[in-house]
Amino acid sequence: ADSPCWIGLDLGTSGCRAMAIDRAGEPIALAKAELPAIHANRANQANQADQASQANGRGNQTNSRGPVSGAIEQDPEHWWRAVIEVLSQLSCDLGRYRPQRLCVDGTSATLLLCTPQGEPLTPALMYNDARAVDEAQIIAEYAPEDSPARGPSASLAKLLSLRRQLGPNQPALALHQADWISGRLRGRFGDSDWNNALKLGFDPHRLAYPPWLLALDLNPVELPRCHPPGADLGPASAEVAAATGLAPTLRIAAGTTDSTAATLAAGARAPGDAVTSLGSTLVLKLVSKRAVADAACGVYSHRIGHLWLVGGASNSGGAVLRQSFDDAQLRRLSERIDPTRATGLDYYPLPHRGERFPIADPSLAPRITPRPAEDSLFLAGLFEGIAQIERAGYQRLRELGAPAPTRILSCGGGAQNPVWSAIRSRVLGLPVECTRQKEAAYGAALLARGDWGAAFGQDENGELSGRLAGW
Ligand code: ADP
Repeated sequence: ADSPCWIGLDLGTSGCRAMAIDRAGEPIALAKAELPAIHANRANQANQADQASQANGRGNQTNSRGPVSGAIEQDPEHWWRAVIEVLSQLSCDLGRYRPQRLCVDGTSATLLLCTPQGEPLTPALMYNDARAVDEAQIIAEYAPEDSPARGPSASLAKLLSLRRQLGPNQPALALHQADWISGRLRGRFGDSDWNNALKLGFDPHRLAYPPWLLALDLNPVELPRCHPPGADLGPASAEVAAATGLAPTLRIAAGTTDSTAATLAAGARAPGDAVTSLGSTLVLKLVSKRAVADAACGVYSHRIGHLWLVGGASNSGGAVLRQSFDDAQLRRLSERIDPTRATGLDYYPLPHRGERFPIADPSLAPRITPRPAEDSLFLAGLFEGIAQIERAGYQRLRELGAPAPTRILSCGGGAQNPVWSAIRSRVLGLPVECTRQKEAAYGAALLARGDWGAAFGQDENGELSGRLAGW
């Protein structure tokens, strides 16, 4: 007889991946495809540094109404081709497994406008496109101080900016990357989820768009309906089943953002579970019973069932290590470090001036001197300095009302280094574990398999249960 399986589909910054898991949560197949590289369009390369500083809330470039400047756009049809490719590959590898439900995660605050039938009316503005400065100023007059919908790279500013491309009275839907893909899988558009819609202004406490947002003139653009991540949205279309070879009984779940999916994949389950990502930057996530926010530091909370994933991102991280050492040197020098001994160097490693979290200070200077003669001691100081920022970050989240971490799961390039893990464990005073699953698609698959959601107040259909049923 056929065994059931569940599919997670991830549209991340570097590619599109699909993973299928079985009833026990074990991965059974993985398929990958490239997405077009995300880069600034046309003659905008020179503006990239500007863009980066703007995305971090600095810079004061005004919006240009003339030639497009700093555009980071993609054609949603390219995403769709990659999706059909990975799902077709995956379906070939499923053997006796029969997919039940599929959940999509996409890059946060990547937005497009389309017709009510899903036909794109605009390109997609990518997560890191921060041109909508004028629109962000309008929004700032309406949105509360701590709203994640503030800022030129939030979905809401992108909506207002893209609206200028519409013809008069053109009916249009605003959809995120994951919303549009999941709509296309169903042949039905207009649905989003609590996580993707957060930067559109959706209030995940009251589970509604707030009055200040409804007071903004968004005409003729319609906002999507928001569902709990993982909630069942209905069957996949017959065309998609035929094009991919997936079972025509497949159903589609409401999605989430790529970083939320990656956090779930890493094993975050219960309050106090923390996930540190040691990639180019240092990103902290923590499961909490209550939402916490600090707009100045870029801290906000994503809702999953009745729990919250609190997050903050420092500019420190692996990029600083790369400025001095390549990966082979990192491995070789690490072998000479004694992780039990403090270096006493007290560094604050940053790749350039400016920090967001745990300290919001656009002019904070890197502190990586004095540099000892011995490279391994210098590296130990950098590892320790980044670990101290990690500790201060969790401390900051605690001050804001999140729990203290009880265990640290780690992912990203730096998580593979056992010496750095030992240093972090000493500095944090907590066990540091490597995550078993690195694929965000795995987290999306867990959401698709709603029974895992029981811990988060969802039953096997992805519907809210228990405490939340009355919402
Ligand atoms: P990205 O955020 O770019 O996707 P990755 O998760 O691939 O990053 O991690 C890349 C980072 O990991 C690099 O900045 C590099 O400094 C760091 N890194 C790679 N190997 C090691 C190592 N052995 N020890 C510590 N850090 C490492």
